[in-house]
Amino acid sequence: MVSRFFKRGGKDDHSDRARAICDELRASGSDLIDGECDEELVRKLEAHLAECTDCDGWTESLRSTIELLKSVPKQTPPDEIMARIREATTQSK
Ligand SMILES: [Zn+2]
Repeated sequence: MVSRFFKRGGKDDHSDRARAICDELRASGSDLIDGECDEELVRKLEAHLAECTDCDGWTESLRSTIELLKSVPKQTPPDEIMARIREATTQSK
């Protein structure tokens, strides 16, 4: 992983710009997968995914994580926990 950064050497404007998009993609990755990004941003990020294997792999793993989370039914807290929450709220008042 680290060797990648050393190998690059001198200042490379294109790499810097690509890295900025990498950061942007990672910041809005879940929105992109949920389809909550602006059309313009989606186009930009998808174009980046086509040429950046790092982000492509990252997005794929994020997507499978989100799918996994969605497939797990939401757990309702057991009555005991609910009772404790109620107790704590009453006490703090
Ligand atoms: Zn990238």
